[in-house]
Amino acid sequence: MNALVPENAADITYDVIIVGGGIVGLVLACGLLSSGLRIAIVEAKTPQQVADRLRAYALSPQSAHIFRALGVWEQIAPAIAHFPKVVLSDADYPHYVEFLPDDIGEPAVYYCAEHSILVQALQQKVATCPAVTCWYETQVVEVSYGTDRATLMLSHSQQPERTVAVNAALVVAADGANSQLRIGEEIKTIGWDYWQSCVTAFVSPAPPHQNIAYERFWSSGPFAVLPLPDNRCQIVWTAPHAEARAIAALPSTQFIAEMSRRYGNQASDLTLLSAPLVFPVRLVQSQTYCKPRLALVGDAAHCCHPIGGQGLNMGIRDAAALAQVLQTAQQQQQDLGSLVVLKSYDRWRRYENWLVLLMTDLLNRTFSNHWLPLVTLRRIVLHGMITWTPLRQLFLRLMTGLWGRQP
Ligand SMILES: Cc1cc2nc3c(=O)[nH]c(=O)nc-3n(C[C@H](O)[C@H](O)[C@H](O)COP(=O)(O)OP(=O)(O)OC[C@H]3O[C@@H](n4cnc5c(N)ncnc54)[C@H](O)[C@@H]3O)c2cc1C
Repeated sequence: MNALVPENAADITYDVIIVGGGIVGLVLACGLLSSGLRIAIVEAKTPQQVADRLRAYALSPQSAHIFRALGVWEQIAPAIAHFPKVVLSDADYPHYVEFLPDDIGEPAVYYCAEHSILVQALQQKVATCPAVTCWYETQVVEVSYGTDRATLMLSHSQQPERTVAVNAALVVAADGANSQLRIGEEIKTIGWDYWQSCVTAFVSPAPPHQNIAYERFWSSGPFAVLPLPDNRCQIVWTAPHAEARAIAALPSTQFIAEMSRRYGNQASDLTLLSAPLVFPVRLVQSQTYCKPRLALVGDAAHCCHPIGGQGLNMGIRDAAALAQVLQTAQQQQQDLGSLVVLKSYDRWRRYENWLVLLMTDLLNRTFSNHWLPLVTLRRIVLHGMITWTPLRQLFLRLMTGLWGRQP
């Protein structure tokens, strides 16, 4: 892994420069490993800092398919939880929906992986390929988009005064929710802030969790329990902003008492393993995912409510789709940065992501609510999913990414 951008980097024109070496940027790089394209990753942090985020993700079977195709699943699978069951319930309503692997013909309903496990597996995969150059601790100072290439001015955090110019046919913004590249190109976004924030913490339940995941809807917001190896779970607890901040500030015994009330009686004794963290929740969708010589992927393109664990899964599908579009364009000797090529990625992913964003919004608004007609309606739908398998299967296919055009 290269640390400093060498002076002679300007002599090389890369095919693709990916700004952001998080999971989505790394998935794109892995997806292009066998293409023969010359790729560079620009990441502001060190590899260790990128991996160090204290978060676990609900991973969909579709993301698992993509990791298999990238050749990293063998390494990831033993270190993550495989859910044999996901239980969906509505507050104190005694009936609940159980989703099983048979509902979608997959080995597991969902998976849960820690950030560090995914990042390290992908970083190692990328490091095996000489066609990929990684510049860590490197900032993008400026980007200019020309007719035949884009030029990025880069600086290393240890020598900020020294800038080096690098050129690429295509720049991919995988630089997260506050994407410098998206903002710099004035790509407009549509969206809204929710009235809720999300509290996450790691806990250990007694008795053991048996890899069963729970999503329970309270009128203040959804409460998810995501099992992890070693009998740990991540909870993702959504509540109105002030309530979420107050919950996170509680002394640990009171925090556990409040959490236990929402957790349900599948755990009688909870041990808190990490300090709670609070995240504001918002929905963001870019009006376009491309401009000439620029494409957006992952949180740089969209952000959603954590309900149903969709954000990263959407980003992984973006990266896989873009890798496919670029490989096809390369085979047809097209210009990778041209709008003709990038528009086919934009059309593929932006409309599918709209559907997921609106579905998470609808779910959150329908369930974070105690208006009686809506409570009655959603309980009828829940009951329908319990008794009518095709409805349950349809819902699960929508939530697991096993619909639409598969990359
Ligand atoms: C509480 C919470 C729970 C969540 N749970 C789930 C879940 O269960 N399932 C799920 O699918 N999703 C979940 N998400 C969403 C998920 O976290 C994001 O969608 C995902 O992390 C986005 O990945 P990314 O690679 O696009 O961006 P990021 O993870 O933000 O990575 C961006 C990278 O770019 C680098 N960077 C930024 N700017 C620059 C720059 N100018 N130059 C160079 N490098 C730069 C950053 O250092 C970083 O490494 C959750 C989100 C939250 C807040």
